[in-house]
Amino acid sequence: MPGLLAGKNVVVMGVANRRSIAWAVARAVHAQGGRLALTYQSGRVRPRVERLLADLAPDPDLTQAPADVPLVECDVASDDGVNRAMKKLARDMPTLDGLVHSIAYAPANDLQGSFVETTRDGFAVANDISSYSLIAAAREARRLMARGGAIVTMTYAGSHRVIPNYNVMGPAKASLESSVRYLAADLGPAEIRVNAVSAGPIHTVAARSIKDFAGMLELLQTHTPLRRNVTAEEVADAVVFLLSDLSRAITGEIVHVDAGAHAVT
Ligand code: NAD
Repeated sequence: MPGLLAGKNVVVMGVANRRSIAWAVARAVHAQGGRLALTYQSGRVRPRVERLLADLAPDPDLTQAPADVPLVECDVASDDGVNRAMKKLARDMPTLDGLVHSIAYAPANDLQGSFVETTRDGFAVANDISSYSLIAAAREARRLMARGGAIVTMTYAGSHRVIPNYNVMGPAKASLESSVRYLAADLGPAEIRVNAVSAGPIHTVAARSIKDFAGMLELLQTHTPLRRNVTAEEVADAVVFLLSDLSRAITGEIVHVDAGAHAVT
């Protein structure tokens, strides 16, 4: 049976290791018959991503062998980095149907202590890497989305509620969510949809930099409507939905995959 993403070319940005939400998304895209490409931040990360791909079970029913997944370096800290990566990607994937942006960064010092002590540099870096990069990626990707497409980014409830130690990432995610709406309005006439998944906390490298992250997971275990936390695979399934034609009338939306936490906290 053809998968939900059969015939679609999808680039997933932000795989760092096997815990990355982006890696769960990559596996889900592949399993749903999408033709996959990956971007990674730097040459240091590449061998890890290659090893992950080697583990991707070759499935005779799927159209793309893991060895054929294009791997493109993309540091989003500069427009040049994003432009070069998209040009390189275009050689393997001249047409793009989906882009998943799963990237965030804030200096460790700005992820603890008093929010009022947030540094000017920390604020600028967090917003640049975690929010502006979506705009830069969308601008380049739309040139490859001649037949329309779907862009999905990853956000967190700290955008609109104060979460202890999330600090500077809160305003960065608020800016990211606002950009989702502006991009949706801009790119809608070109049949390009832009949405975000607001995920509950998941144990990844990015999450580990938030002080007392384990305590947050423990609290949610008993406080969410579903009385549990969520997995990267559950988040990835929602991303697949937003990339697929099943969500063809949805854009500018923030979809919560958080075991219902947003409804009760
Ligand atoms: P992760 O550490 O696996 O992924 C973060 C990625 O950002 C890494 O691949 C890293 O290389 C990349 N990155 C950082 N700076 C970059 C740069 N300059 N250029 C290119 N890439 C860069 O962690 P994750 O939890 O999978 O995070 C993915 C996304 O999900 C982030 O946007 C994060 O805020 C969001 N999110 C995570 C959680 C959670 O609890 N883990 C919850 C909600 C939302």
